[in-house]
Amino acid sequence: MKAMVVERLGPPDVMELRDVPVPTPGPGEVRIEVEAVGINFADVLAVAGEYLTRTKVPYTPGMEFAGIVESLGDGVTGVQVGQRVAALGGSGALARYSVVNAAGLIPVPQSLSGAQAAAFPVSYFTAYHGLKTLGRGVAGEWVLVQAAAGALGTASIQLAKALDMKVIAMASTEEKLSIARDLGADVTLLQDDEERVQKVRDAAGGQGVPLILEVVGGKRFQESLDMAAGQGRIIVIGNASREQANLRPVELMKRNLSVTGLWLTSLMSDRAATAEAAQILSQLVGSGQVTPQVGPTYALADSARAFQDILNRKTTGKVIIEP
Ligand code: NDP
Repeated sequence: MKAMVVERLGPPDVMELRDVPVPTPGPGEVRIEVEAVGINFADVLAVAGEYLTRTKVPYTPGMEFAGIVESLGDGVTGVQVGQRVAALGGSGALARYSVVNAAGLIPVPQSLSGAQAAAFPVSYFTAYHGLKTLGRGVAGEWVLVQAAAGALGTASIQLAKALDMKVIAMASTEEKLSIARDLGADVTLLQDDEERVQKVRDAAGGQGVPLILEVVGGKRFQESLDMAAGQGRIIVIGNASREQANLRPVELMKRNLSVTGLWLTSLMSDRAATAEAAQILSQLVGSGQVTPQVGPTYALADSARAFQDILNRKTTGKVIIEP
C-alpha cells in the first residue's frame, strides 16, 4: 500500500510517498481503511522534530483520522467491521490502512462524513478542555480565541457560542476574521492591529478578558497577559510562532492571573474529563449546533504541500488528506 514515510526530520518535503506492507492488527488493535486524515499543527512540528515528544524515525505521520473498520485483532469488542470511526493514534495515518489500539477509537455520529469525522477529535476535545475542563468558562463570559480561522480556532468559536459564551476572535487576515464572524464570533480583530491590547480590553467591558486560549506564544504570550482581566485564566495550548516566551511570575501575582498548560494527549488519560467532553460534544454535533469545519483537502501524494500550507498560514479549518 502507499504511505508517506519520514526517514529524517526536517521541513515538510522530507516526507516521501513509498510502497509499504499493509499492517497487521495485533491483540487489542483494529485495522482501519483510512478515508480522511486530519492534519494538525502538531504533525508539522513532529516531522520537524519540534514536538513535545521526540519523533522516532522512520515513521509514517498522521495522528488523527477517520475510516472504516476493516479487521479486528484478538480480544477487540464493542466495535464492528464496517463501522465508521474516528481514531487517535500516535502516528501512521498517512496511508491506505492504519492500525490503532482499540482504546484510541472515538465513536462519531454516523451523520458525519469521513472528512468531518477526521476534523473532529483533536480540535473539539482540545477546545472543550480549554474552555471548560481547565478554562472553567461559564455562560456569558468573554473568551479570546487566537488563530480563530484555524482548526482549533473554528472549533473553539463554535463550542464557545454553543456554551453561550462571548467570543473575541483574532486572526491574521480579514478573510479569516470573516470566517470567525460567520461562526458567531461577537468581536473580531486583526492580530496585527496596533491598538489590539486596548481594543481587546475594551471589547470585554474595559476590564480585560477572563479567559484566553493562547496558541501563538512568543511575544504574543506577553500580550495575552496584558489583555487578561484580573484573576484571568490563560490556557497555554500552543506555540505556533515557535518563539520563546518570557514569563515573570511576579506579573501573575499583581493581577492574580493563572496560566495553565493544556496537552490533549496527556488529558486523554483523565477518564472523567474525557467522558464529560465526549458526552457534551456528541450531543452538540448530533444536534447540529457544532459542525466540524473541513478545510482544504489534498491527495496523499500532496502531503508535503498540505503541511507547508499550514506553516505558511494559508489554510483555514482542518486540513484533510485523503489517501
Ligand atoms: P491551525 O489550523 O490553527 O493553523 C495554525 C495557525 O496558527 C495559522 O493558521 C495561523 O493563524 C496561526 N499562526 C500564528 N503564528 C503563526 C506562525 N508564526 N506560523 C504559523 N502559524 C501561525 O492549526 P491547529 O488547529 O492544528 O493548531 C493551532 C494551535 O493549537 C497550534 O499551536 C497547535 O500546536 C495547538 N494545538 C495544541 C493542542 C494541545 O493538545 N495542546 C491540540 C490542538 C492544537 P493566523 O494566520 O490567523 O495567525
